[in-house]
Amino acid sequence: MPDSPANAEEFSNLELRSELVQALAELGYEEPTPIQREAIPLLLQGRDLMGQAATGTGKTAAFALPILQQLPDSDRGRAPRALVLVPTRELAMQVSEAIHRYGRDMRARVLPIYGGQPIVRQLRALSSGVDVVVGTPGRVLDHLNRGSLALAQLATVVLDEADEMLDMGFAEDLDAIMAATPGDRQTLLFSATIPARVEKLARRYLRDPVSVQVGRGPATAGGTPLVRQTAYVVARAHKPATLGRILDVESPTAAIVFCRTRDEVDRLTETLNGRGYRAEALHGGMTQDQRDRVMGRLRGGTAELLVATDVAARGLDIDQLTHVINYDVPSDPESYVHRIGRVGRAGRSGVAITLAEPREHRMLKAIERATKQRMHLESVPTVADLRARRLESTRAAIHENLLAGDLDGFRVVVETLAAEFDVLEVALAAVQLAHEATGGSSAEEEDIPTVTATEAKAARTSTEPTARIFVGAGRSAGIRPQDLVGAIAGESRLTGRDIGSIEISDRFSLVEIPDAAVDEVIQALKGTTIKGKKAVIRRDRTQPKRPRGRT
Ligand code: AMP
Repeated sequence: MPDSPANAEEFSNLELRSELVQALAELGYEEPTPIQREAIPLLLQGRDLMGQAATGTGKTAAFALPILQQLPDSDRGRAPRALVLVPTRELAMQVSEAIHRYGRDMRARVLPIYGGQPIVRQLRALSSGVDVVVGTPGRVLDHLNRGSLALAQLATVVLDEADEMLDMGFAEDLDAIMAATPGDRQTLLFSATIPARVEKLARRYLRDPVSVQVGRGPATAGGTPLVRQTAYVVARAHKPATLGRILDVESPTAAIVFCRTRDEVDRLTETLNGRGYRAEALHGGMTQDQRDRVMGRLRGGTAELLVATDVAARGLDIDQLTHVINYDVPSDPESYVHRIGRVGRAGRSGVAITLAEPREHRMLKAIERATKQRMHLESVPTVADLRARRLESTRAAIHENLLAGDLDGFRVVVETLAAEFDVLEVALAAVQLAHEATGGSSAEEEDIPTVTATEAKAARTSTEPTARIFVGAGRSAGIRPQDLVGAIAGESRLTGRDIGSIEISDRFSLVEIPDAAVDEVIQALKGTTIKGKKAVIRRDRTQPKRPRGRT
């Protein structure tokens, strides 16, 4: 195990420039993920690439690093060198932030362009010069039509989440955008799934592409050990609280909590210690000496939780481990199998728990395929579960005390109180004190929402009040449901799943969306075109008919 930061060697094997290697080290990335290891060298050779990779695999850095690497050192001019097309505004912001972070030391100019943001700001940024544009197809096309975005200098085009872009009806927009790019561009396509229409898109736009797949490999030899595997789907913001709750309910003897980056390891260790757990950090930035001390504390029982990166935990063998917790979904199924192989050894049972963000649900599926085992999706323990669990541990402690005997010294207290109260009441008061003294009552806990893909959809469509918007374009203008879904999802915060029934008549269309999003959607659509035309957009005041499917 190296004493120096683990990252430098692995990432510089990829022959990335020093500014990039430095940025990755600062972010706490310790080694490339499988898709990065495979795709980056090919992309640096200038190959076109078709990558089958879901969110969570590290695909963004896989395409962003080669793009940054290939930017000229100086005189970058005003026109962008790379264009990344993504299905939603959320993803445009995320990808743009990631590229900005990787390219900060290179002073890379990255601009997200999506609907819902004042176009003036985007126009100003574009005219002062950008290196990488990350945008939704609708808004990119808008800028092309206005002449505010020049694509002639593009060296690279990335179609990210291509399956989703097609599902949202962006096919024609993509065609129009691709037609404006140089013929000798490098083209990358990433998609979690490769249905026939994505293949067709690839055939049209990629030249002699190499294919890279993540998570398709068979399970590792020897199969998956006997481990109870559970996953919780929670929003990122709820992860620390969720982990705390799981730890309280599971009470592991010793657990290892895996994070993706060194920074996350440090932050989480601090949070856990702040909440009263005995956690130790282990990552590639620590010296051998520090690591030995940490392992000693875990083996000796002074620490109960080890928070670690994959690199740091490699080769560790800890007998007492009962739980492996993936605080982040691992970047490929192989590494999942490797992580959970640390429990359930030699016939002992173990528990593997994975926290996934809603966008990462596809990674869970890939893991199930590779391990050939079901992962049970569970709801985060509720406040009531937690209370029951804590009462149970107070009961167990009192039970143990009764068995141990030697309580005579307290007899006088009970006898005096018994003169005034019923003995049962005396016992109740004593239990309450004991319970509170062990931190058993916590007043301010709140329930944490769990999300699963189907629940998320059901919750959105059944409990949220909905409203309809009127779009002054219909069948006679060639409008299809996917055009409306594409325009709304591309220009606002909503995703295709938030959109309810759609009715298209000759001259207008009605689209059902969550009531709370109506103003935003109207605002966003007013600044854009649908199928190349401006249309009247307003809230529909008529009573909705019985909802019809999206046909
Ligand atoms: P993506 O699949 O591109 O959405 O990336 C998923 C997450 O992994 C992001 O939070 C990245 O910051 C993180 N990530 C990407 N590459 C690495 C790496 N080599 N080491 C650790 N974390 C990474």
